[in-house]
Amino acid sequence: MPAARSPEITLDFDPAFLDALPADPLTTAQPRQVEGATHSFCMPTPVAAPRLLSWSADCAALLGLPAQPDTARAAAAVFSGNALLSGSQPYATCYGGHQFGQWAGQLGDGRALMLGTAIAPDGRRFEVQLKGAGLTPYSRHADGRAVLRSSIREYLCSEAMHHLGIPTTRALCLVASGEDVVRDMFYDGRARAEPGAIVTRVAESFLRIGHLEILAARGDITLLQRLLDHCIVRHFPQLGAPSREVYLAWFGEVCRRTAELIAHWLRVGFVHGVMNTDNLSLLGLTIDYGPYGWLDNFDPHFTPNTTDRGGRYAYGQQARIAGWNLACLANALMPLVDNRQALEDALDGYAAHFETTYLAMLRDKLGLPPTGDAQSDFGLVSTLFDCFGKAETDMTLFYRTLASISPEMPPDLALESLDATFYYPPTATAREAFAHWLTDWQARLRLSAESQGERTTRMNATNPWLIPRNWLAQQAIQAAEAGDLAPLEHLMSAIRDPYTEQIAYSDLAGRRPDWARFQPGCGSLSCSS
Ligand code: AMP
Ligand code: MG
Repeated sequence: MPAARSPEITLDFDPAFLDALPADPLTTAQPRQVEGATHSFCMPTPVAAPRLLSWSADCAALLGLPAQPDTARAAAAVFSGNALLSGSQPYATCYGGHQFGQWAGQLGDGRALMLGTAIAPDGRRFEVQLKGAGLTPYSRHADGRAVLRSSIREYLCSEAMHHLGIPTTRALCLVASGEDVVRDMFYDGRARAEPGAIVTRVAESFLRIGHLEILAARGDITLLQRLLDHCIVRHFPQLGAPSREVYLAWFGEVCRRTAELIAHWLRVGFVHGVMNTDNLSLLGLTIDYGPYGWLDNFDPHFTPNTTDRGGRYAYGQQARIAGWNLACLANALMPLVDNRQALEDALDGYAAHFETTYLAMLRDKLGLPPTGDAQSDFGLVSTLFDCFGKAETDMTLFYRTLASISPEMPPDLALESLDATFYYPPTATAREAFAHWLTDWQARLRLSAESQGERTTRMNATNPWLIPRNWLAQQAIQAAEAGDLAPLEHLMSAIRDPYTEQIAYSDLAGRRPDWARFQPGCGSLSCSS
């Protein structure tokens, strides 16, 4: 049991979630199937020696907390679960999910514990959750803990995504537990002890597709409706009072948000890595940062997740898979909507909205006019992606460099300026393909009235200068494991303004170094976390 309530840190908790929905009558962490309830009250399991490692001032501001906690000791106690915030009644939620295409039954918050819903100074409500705070009824065979390396990755990327302008759950702080956690990182029987940590996550809601799926799968239609009504009333009030029509409108809105989310991921080269339906948000947020990664060289088949041998969740599959996941959601909604055609129409709407949104983003990335001919713009993009395949091209560096090429620059000079974006010198065929593409692209730019300055600004506003590439996170992790938090703080500062070239962070904005190409944690990650 946590020792005591903390008087030093306060959040104003709103009990609405708990009042509206039925709780599991049991309050132990004994693994079990939880039916007829959306959540189980459960206390965090205290850790040996909590220590605050990092604090996001930006996320703290959302909650009305100070830019630096008044005492690191109190923050470490509260955000490890060793002390409870006044008004907090921790609970874990029940969800199911399709994992790698198969129904997996009940999953749930196996190591996440909601502290409660905090009322922010601006009146908005945010769920505040500890990840790695110990066993819950949903921990199944696992330990409820998280290792430092995966916690750093989640903490860093949650905040980086926000600053990239992409909907995401946020992270308030990172606390070392002072305890080891045993993990078999490569699933090869060589388990070892690693430092443990806890991340405090913050989001308007952590509801996932799997929250509804589990209720539909169990045939608990009454609770399915209660939870969906709750979600709509609380997070989608603009849709009106829940009804069959509103459920459909809501599904359309989830499809729309998901389409935009995936287009954003593709825009910046993000690969989620485990797009199971339990890891897809009902609010269109990026959620559950596990074995995610970033494209260095552009490769649609890239996935950092070594567990995903078939590449189901590879970069170029994400739009299709999100559609597959939304179809699972549609199935879960059938008992309430009872109109398969309307749900299928909404799924078609997802595909159409994704295409429109992604095309608009690609036009900005390439500096093309926003109202060109869609087919010919997609054609230009597809030729570019073919070129990327002919030479290992760093996606981020390519787009940034492209913004500095004028429509009048001779193609050989233009090509020369792109030299630093290739991982090895392109072959003569590849150079020729790029030269052709550049000539085409420049011809289109010359038809536009936009000035070079305006175009560069537009392109640079959508093409990040810096992304938290895996090898950067890995370096920060290795330093942190050795007791040096400076690289993590350097990276956390750098990601706050990712579209602006900043001399102070130029060490973080280059190509992936050769040593990182095959190193675990850089190019490849397992699900072990
Ligand atoms: P993930 O692949 O991280 O999205 O997790 C899938 C499911 O496994 C979720 O229900 C998690 O809560 C659960 N899980 C993952 N790691 C642990 C852990 N160390 N302890 C308990 N549950 C876990
Ligand atoms: Mg998950």
